[in-house]
Amino acid sequence: MSDGHRASPETGRVYLVGAGPGAPGLLTLRGRDLLARADTVVHDYLVSPVHLRHVREDCEIISVGDRGQRLDQRSINDLLVLRGLQGEMVVRLKGGDPFVFGRGGEEASALAAAGVPFEVVPGVTAAVASAAYAGIPMTHRGYGPSMALVTAHRADAPNDVPVPAGTPDPDDETDLDAPGAAGGGAIRWSALAGIDTLAFYMGAGRAAAIAARLVEAGRSGETPVAFVRNATRPDQSVFESTLAGVAAGAAAHVRPPAVIIVGEVVRLRARLAWAEHRPLHGLRVGVTRAASQGDDLIEALEAQGADTLAMPTLDFAPPLDAGPLQVALATLAEWHWLVFTSTNGVDFFMRALHGRGLDARALAGLKLACVGPATVKALRAWGLRADRIPDRFVAEGLIAAFEADLTGQRVLVARAAEAREVLPEALRARGAEVQVVPVYRSVTPPLAPGVVGAIAAGHLDLITFTSASTVTRLMSQLDPVGQATLRARVGALCIGPVTAEAARAAGLRVDVCAPSHTAEGLVDALVAWRSAAETPSN
Ligand code: SAH
Repeated sequence: MSDGHRASPETGRVYLVGAGPGAPGLLTLRGRDLLARADTVVHDYLVSPVHLRHVREDCEIISVGDRGQRLDQRSINDLLVLRGLQGEMVVRLKGGDPFVFGRGGEEASALAAAGVPFEVVPGVTAAVASAAYAGIPMTHRGYGPSMALVTAHRADAPNDVPVPAGTPDPDDETDLDAPGAAGGGAIRWSALAGIDTLAFYMGAGRAAAIAARLVEAGRSGETPVAFVRNATRPDQSVFESTLAGVAAGAAAHVRPPAVIIVGEVVRLRARLAWAEHRPLHGLRVGVTRAASQGDDLIEALEAQGADTLAMPTLDFAPPLDAGPLQVALATLAEWHWLVFTSTNGVDFFMRALHGRGLDARALAGLKLACVGPATVKALRAWGLRADRIPDRFVAEGLIAAFEADLTGQRVLVARAAEAREVLPEALRARGAEVQVVPVYRSVTPPLAPGVVGAIAAGHLDLITFTSASTVTRLMSQLDPVGQATLRARVGALCIGPVTAEAARAAGLRVDVCAPSHTAEGLVDALVAWRSAAETPSN
């Protein structure tokens, strides 16, 4: 939550923050804290968008360039200086480490020249991340004492020239003979050839030339080489060869972004590779949850190595008729109990309360009841404690938590526009006067083009369904061809038998039916299913 304070001119500051190689957990704590406070975030296209969920709701996010349309470096420098002078707290989020081939040095120089205070927050640089995730120790006592990080990229290109749309990658602009190569001077191949472990950045498009130069400079053609592409990301891939093989074109198919690791330490990978051995590695899972809810599940799946695609089928909006809620908010003093049956109920109710210029004090005379721990947590975020929490986290459990005789008690139930009637009816049966107040309703957002494309292309192995409505909502957003593709090629991973039944009714193949409602329970069931699928039965 933000109180919306923007920094004053005296406190403007620019933080050059390394975002790491892409995995959500590889951002530093300092980087995350600064993101959470920033007025403005300026980021590169290579930076994983997953980190942007840490920012405040009112944070301005500026992307300085997609492929083909990047802002030139001078304009980026000017932007940072201007925002700093305006007193903003700016996070300049850069892939990997800001001072490793990231032009962070140029940005810091511009800030220093303009007198704008800045700080540099290091990040996990791509070479180190690639080596770790490929099972290649960059240094090892058995293999010589030196390592080097090298860019084959020409220092004066391509950030200063707009890259035309459709250009495969700036890596291809690498000019190994240019005096500006390696960030200031020509690459000294003879010196490099004598270093034990080499990691090349921005070299994927010129790997054959790099390998040939190293061999010419005296490195053995038998030296092992690993290309680590999309390191730490769910689609990480590793291609292994030798310098002679790469020089002969063996790695021509490897696309950026990739780090090329050269040296005897690459051999250790045969024993130390681990990322590929994670239980869900390579499995492509679509996650159909509410836009605001999917993160836990996505993180839990990715932690086990799965590649996920968020396909929100459910979003929440204020009720079509705001009348009952406004009446309830105007007459809070006349009620004894306020009952919440979901975290959304809490959040929509409290936002509406604040919208009337009120706060938690308006609830001082009411007792609060919650259906379960998540709702309790949501209340706590608004500074409120629940008076009643059931032992069993369903409507029936909440009913049991109330007194048998509720005669004379006036109860407000804040909940979704469409919901089961069990709770209000049971409370009425005990003598309470119950008013159901719809505080939000669910809506089906249209599927993103990327999601439709992934389904059509058969790029998914499984889709998670967390309720029967996620099944019907997804199907309703697909045309008949998309529905048929789903039925033929994608398995369903369902929470509980009711959801599984809905999936079957929609013609889907149910591969996994998880008993537990938590993200961990779902992932455990998937891991068990996959290891069973991979263990040949006899
Ligand atoms: N400042 C960044 C490097 C930017 S240069 C850092 O410290 O990592 C961009 C190059 O980094 C790419 O061409 C590629 O060689 C490498 N790179 C970035 N992210 C990568 C990833 N996830 N996997 C492999 N290489 C990556």
